[in-house]
Amino acid sequence: MEGIDIEVSEVGLRDGLQSINQIMPTEAKKRWISALAAAGVPEIEVGSFVPARILPQLADTMEIAQYARTIEGLNVAVLVPNLKGAEQAIKARVHKLTIPLSVSETHSLRNVNRTHLQMLEEVGHIAQLIKRLPVDERPILEGALSTAFGCTIEGTIPEDRVVEIAVALMEAGCDEVGLSDTTGYANPVQVKRLIGKVWAAIGREHLKGIHLHNTRGQGLANVLASVEMGLTTIDSSMGGIGGCPSAPGASGNIVTEDLVFLLEAMGLKTGIDFDALMAARNVVATALPDVELYGFTPDAGLPLGFCSR
Ligand code: ZN
Repeated sequence: MEGIDIEVSEVGLRDGLQSINQIMPTEAKKRWISALAAAGVPEIEVGSFVPARILPQLADTMEIAQYARTIEGLNVAVLVPNLKGAEQAIKARVHKLTIPLSVSETHSLRNVNRTHLQMLEEVGHIAQLIKRLPVDERPILEGALSTAFGCTIEGTIPEDRVVEIAVALMEAGCDEVGLSDTTGYANPVQVKRLIGKVWAAIGREHLKGIHLHNTRGQGLANVLASVEMGLTTIDSSMGGIGGCPSAPGASGNIVTEDLVFLLEAMGLKTGIDFDALMAARNVVATALPDVELYGFTPDAGLPLGFCSR
């Protein structure tokens, strides 16, 4: 995107909300999206097209996605678990579809009850569906390499396996892949090594983004490793919402507010205005009063003399 060094992709409305029981009203989600866009957040993953009985929190994804599409200049992304979800996403005219594929096959079976082969077949069907659209209406299809840095069931994930799946996703018709530290296992050295290996196999232009969790406090260190390597899209969640029900006090995704401060302080342009970002945080705090919002920068405030945007 023009004038921006690093694209912050806000995933709070999907990854954050999906593990929160208190349902955020549709109108509040719209206010949140508007406030994020007004702050200059270039991309928002607004929801996931999964059956409402599985994730009631995201049952309004169609309405939310269609609303987000009315905001000029905002990149609208959604998660889709399968072809059916992709059909919905295309109907909502989103810019980007992300289909997650767990590099840990055990995790894939537990999570979506599908083997790698079955998931890759599904990706192929989605790619076909997209190809049938007029060129200027085709969304980007991203394959997310979940559990790429380790799995809570399988443990260590061989890096060659991650590379193999990245290649398979590209062959199945993805435009790009993303690395996903679903479990918060990653460290900066591993992040750099894995980016290098995937690039060597599929080319730099096909891996631009990373999705990090702060489960063990390594999130921002992993961001630094990613941007030093040259990735240009970083996922984060406002207030780090999401968390982990079995680990009280542990935040979920890396915190958008701290990420923006880190990047801007290092001289990397995000296009995001910090004060306006805090206004968006207030929308969440008001709509979800029982949910703890994380972030060091919101608590401490910006350093004296600091100027963003
Ligand atoms: Zn995640």
